[in-house]
Amino acid sequence: MKGNIIEEDELSTYELHTPRNIKEAVELMSRIDEEAYYISGGTKLIPLISQNKVAPKHLISLKDVPDLGSIKREKGLRLGSGVTLFDVARDEFIRLRYTALFDAANELGSRETRKIATLGGSICGAVPSMHLVCSLLLFDPDVAIAGMDPPTHQYGTGVQGGFLYGRFMGIEKFILDGEQPPLKKQEFVKEFVLPPLWEKTGSAYVKVSQKKAKDLGLLAAGVRMRVSVDEDLSQSRNAFAGMSDMSDIFFALENWKVKCEESLILLARPSEPPMRFRNAEDTLKGNVFCPRAFEEVLGTVLADMAPVTGTTAETWYRKEIAKILVSRALVKAIDRALWPDQKVRPESSW
Ligand SMILES: Cc1cc2nc3c(=O)[nH]c(=O)nc-3n(C[C@H](O)[C@H](O)[C@H](O)COP(=O)(O)OP(=O)(O)OC[C@H]3O[C@@H](n4cnc5c(N)ncnc54)[C@H](O)[C@@H]3O)c2cc1C
Repeated sequence: MKGNIIEEDELSTYELHTPRNIKEAVELMSRIDEEAYYISGGTKLIPLISQNKVAPKHLISLKDVPDLGSIKREKGLRLGSGVTLFDVARDEFIRLRYTALFDAANELGSRETRKIATLGGSICGAVPSMHLVCSLLLFDPDVAIAGMDPPTHQYGTGVQGGFLYGRFMGIEKFILDGEQPPLKKQEFVKEFVLPPLWEKTGSAYVKVSQKKAKDLGLLAAGVRMRVSVDEDLSQSRNAFAGMSDMSDIFFALENWKVKCEESLILLARPSEPPMRFRNAEDTLKGNVFCPRAFEEVLGTVLADMAPVTGTTAETWYRKEIAKILVSRALVKAIDRALWPDQKVRPESSW
């Protein structure tokens, strides 16, 4: 490099391969001895190459592999790893049923980024997107991995191009197992298989960030909630949506005897796995929502939060923010569980 000018021989050069099916992709990767990466949207990988942080000799594009870009509603939902965040956010079924995923995808980066970035690329790589990791974890999907191992699951018997694609792994193991996704060299993520949701289940993902839109986030809360209620509340939604004070909301829920059947409460942090708050979940389980239960849940979350300090925010500040985020995510999830057909309003003040 002379001054600020990068000499041509300093730039990373690589060969781009465009396999047409899973078999071609996997076989190609297993034959290559030099440094090679799969690439989906390229929004993470290409900048790393431009900055000379990685220097692959081969990129294997998954763009032309059929099926990776599809969203299939079966008993639950099957999301191809090549589905873009834009497609996730505009899918009506995801918006209504797997709403936390909609929340996370809809607010990540700019529209241009969302149109290119994929689910697979967001979860793989050394630093996965905390937003997609956390919102997917809420729905506990299996990760279908294409490779050369014999199938380990009912869906693993799928054949493409005469090739059996391989194994399945619970998302928790996939995400929490180490610094890198637990993939063998020739393996890549084919799809995410989300189980069906019970009736009266709602979910929400709420984040706070320092610089709107283009940052990597500071802290975020994800909640999945299943409720039960004896009363017919179909006419009460507008009254509920009009309440801005949390104590009014919880008094109303107590009046209507809305009960928490089960919940999953997560906090997402940059560069770290999400934290799950099982004690808080146990506090809610089987109980009618009321201001006291709500206070108890928040107290438990704060007590169980690891004392994380970092360059982005001090512990006390994180705790304050966590309280607000968890409250908002809880209320949004309850709202969506009770009135699932109502239009989702991500801009709601909760
Ligand atoms: C302008 C901009 C703004 C952004 N803002 C945010 C933000 O606000 N919050 C946030 O969290 N993130 C943000 N990001 C990061 C963004 O989330 C990632 O760049 C994106 O999700 C990566 O997806 P991709 O398909 O482009 O991945 P790629 O760049 O294609 O791949 C990323 C990594 O995953 C591997 N990979 C890709 N597909 C697969 C697969 N199917 N199986 C196995 N490995 C695979 C690649 O080898 C690579 O290591 C932003 C990025 C940009 C460019």
